[in-house]
Amino acid sequence: MQAEEYNRRGKELVDYITQYLGSIRERRVIPDVKPGYMRELLPDAAPTEPEDWESIFNDIEKVIMPGASSPACTELEMNVMDWLCKALGLPSFFLHHHPDSRGGGILQSTVSESTLVALLAARKDKILQLRAELNQDVDDSILNARLVAYASDQAHSSVEKAGLISLVKIRFLPTDEQLSLRGDTLKQAIQEDRRRGLVPFMLCATLGTTGVCAFDKLSELGPACAEEGLWLHVDAAYAGSAYFCPELRWSLEGIEFADSFVFNPSKWMMVHFDCTAFWVKDKYKLQQTFNVDPVYLRHENSQAATDFMHWQIPLSRRFRSLKLWFAMRSFGLKNLQAHIRNVNVTELSLYHPIKELELSLSVFTEGKMC
Ligand SMILES: *Cc1c(COP(=O)(O)O)cnc(C)c1O
Repeated sequence: MQAEEYNRRGKELVDYITQYLGSIRERRVIPDVKPGYMRELLPDAAPTEPEDWESIFNDIEKVIMPGASSPACTELEMNVMDWLCKALGLPSFFLHHHPDSRGGGILQSTVSESTLVALLAARKDKILQLRAELNQDVDDSILNARLVAYASDQAHSSVEKAGLISLVKIRFLPTDEQLSLRGDTLKQAIQEDRRRGLVPFMLCATLGTTGVCAFDKLSELGPACAEEGLWLHVDAAYAGSAYFCPELRWSLEGIEFADSFVFNPSKWMMVHFDCTAFWVKDKYKLQQTFNVDPVYLRHENSQAATDFMHWQIPLSRRFRSLKLWFAMRSFGLKNLQAHIRNVNVTELSLYHPIKELELSLSVFTEGKMC
């Protein structure tokens, strides 16, 4: 959208808001839709071709308004996160709407928060396992002290921060000459830590490290995590947008072992901050970590509806999926792919580690990253 149209559409939006506020007394306070109402109003996947603003804008009244803020906010997010999951070629166990899936995607505020959320869920799960094995009443804090998580020495500082907040030990493991974490290094660390009486419970692997855009070797790390009972969390914060292009998915080999995956559409997908896409394979593991049930939050659809308050730290939520919905439709997958392919050194950098430093520098100097 060019400046002239942006200006005109912006004014139309203000008109729409004024009209909405002027007619608010005629609108329903409580929506009369049933959980899942939006699915039949939307296509199953993001459009390949761009759509014009007119048709996107008209859908606000048709699709969003019948669900007022709350159910519409959740349902659009579920549908759009499924679109995004499919568009990136991620496993179907991350889909909300899939017969074999126990998982789904949610928009969080940042990758840092998502990594903390993944760590808290992995920790809860391991503590419950340990409790069941021990079969005696041990305080959670005692079990917490035995836990250890891993990341490469190239991992983002947010991984260290998650450990700091949760009082969990994190070991930063050495990488190979491509600055990539390898399966054998992880296995060796796990063996050492088990001998010391620690309980390994999580790996945070990075696809596209912040420093040099290195990729941890998921195809080796994934099977090791599965064998050793570790939660595999994948941080693809800025490189994740590259997976719109099938030819750039080579580093996703092994993704079928992931328990959670996170990336920032706000970095390379032309969506404004904040917008962080986070998927989990097993939503019940999030819910067992974050579920509280005060009487003032119960409602008649508590059972049937997805309630994202059980998937995150805050209770209240922004309507972030709107901008993702708008961006995917107004660009179309075709243009999102073209955007990735056209960023000068990037394509090369994803293949050639030597070029990586150049990429990081260009990313910073061209202001493509926040
Ligand atoms: C940018 C970045 C982060 C942090 O993202 P926030 O959303 O700002 O928390 C984490 N990991 C990697 C690899 C990054 O590039």
